[in-house]
Amino acid sequence: MQISNQYLADLYEDVCRKNPNEPEFLQAVGEVFESLVPVADRRPDLIDAGVFDRIVEPERTIIFRVSWVDDSGKVRVNRGFRVQFNSAIGPYKGGLRLHPSVNLSVIKFLGFEQIFKNSLTSLPMGGGKGGSDFDPKGKSDGEIMRFCQSFMTELAKHIGADTDVPAGDIGVGAREIGFMFGQYKRLRNEFTGVLTGKGLSYGGSLIRPEATGYGLCYFTKEMLEHNNSSFKDKIVVISGSGNVAIYAAQKAAQLGAKVVAMSDSNGFVYDKDGIDLAVVKQIKEVERGRIYEYAKRVPSAVYTEGRGIWNIKCDIALPCATQNELHLEDAQALVANGVIAVAEGANMPSTPDAVAYLQSHGVLFGPAKAANAGGVATSGLEMSQNSIRLSWTSEEVDERLHGIMVNIYRNAAKAAEEYGMKGNLVAGANIAGFLKVAEAMKAQGIAY
Ligand code: NDP
Repeated sequence: MQISNQYLADLYEDVCRKNPNEPEFLQAVGEVFESLVPVADRRPDLIDAGVFDRIVEPERTIIFRVSWVDDSGKVRVNRGFRVQFNSAIGPYKGGLRLHPSVNLSVIKFLGFEQIFKNSLTSLPMGGGKGGSDFDPKGKSDGEIMRFCQSFMTELAKHIGADTDVPAGDIGVGAREIGFMFGQYKRLRNEFTGVLTGKGLSYGGSLIRPEATGYGLCYFTKEMLEHNNSSFKDKIVVISGSGNVAIYAAQKAAQLGAKVVAMSDSNGFVYDKDGIDLAVVKQIKEVERGRIYEYAKRVPSAVYTEGRGIWNIKCDIALPCATQNELHLEDAQALVANGVIAVAEGANMPSTPDAVAYLQSHGVLFGPAKAANAGGVATSGLEMSQNSIRLSWTSEEVDERLHGIMVNIYRNAAKAAEEYGMKGNLVAGANIAGFLKVAEAMKAQGIAY
């Protein structure tokens, strides 16, 4: 890490010493601290108020047992997490991830990033994240339901519409949110907006399923337009084929691009004629199947097992699967193939050396906490609709989402320029997101 402010460098060392087994969390803190060097240089008052020291320590970390019974009658035990990282500007807000790779480091990195992302949306939401090492793949609906109910039985003690409002993430979509919402209601005997990403018939918002992918494209469109380019006639590669990837693909195509490749954790499909999204949706959203099925159904497509999606020639790359999926050699391949923009739909999908390589080779780079903030922003809009007990139309929600993404781009670009790093949206997003939270933490006194 290149942290050229002594205070932040010493603090980072301290964070490393205290959290030695948390590589993802340390990676996220290091990246944010690098960006905050000019802020620490100019704002000794924030150092005096202990803001940097406090912001890297979660307000509360909850780790719990989730026991459930599988279809054969066997008792299974998973580990559940909720990290309530920072409530300076609003109730904790952030998704729940169900994936075998989930551990404290992953949840802390996601919760830490969420603080700045939520701040960037300009909505009153603090940062949190949760999940479990439960693997939903291959489980029956009954097993998923029993797991979600057991998970919520403990989580319900710690969340609430004005305290902490979880949402979906990897492995958690409308089905899982529905089971968890039902259990929360049963336990508390109250119908409140305690989760977002709910079904439309019980308080969900239109456009929430589409929001992260659409928002990613709105952000990328703004970034391209500020550099005299657009999506029109561009070739786009998108990793993943889950919620974020599918709706990024849909919006990119609507904006005039051709999406030629998508993937899952087994491999990727390349379709020179452009991905037929109806087929992907059928496989992923209806059948919950694997992406290789696509090549069996669409003759123009080729399936390749394993990594390698970033070797496909494209103008715009949108990593939308998971953390650390785009490595230095992938960045080198993208640059060699003439990529003009990379924008992150997933959280921290690019490794630090990949980001540095892309930026130093003139590639427009949209960092996750700015580019994928559309999901949580629309969750914030769902909370507003729940509070006033009204539902807005798709057009209304989409228009607000679009406005929020344009503002995020502009605020990140402005902050980068003000702090001497013009064009560096990684730094700009970190600085803009941090400053609002920092001012609130300072104003609220040091017991927070
Ligand atoms: P989904 O579970 O819907 O989809 C995840 C996709 O990524 C699947 O195609 C999955 O493949 C693939 N994937 C997951 N883990 C890995 C891995 N280790 N290696 C390769 N591929 C993998 O999740 P989402 O689309 O909701 O989330 C994707 C990313 O976007 C995550 O980083 C999430 O944190 C981020 N995000 C999501 C938001 C949302 O609103 N949903 C909001 C903001 C960010 P497979 O099926 O094989 O596992």
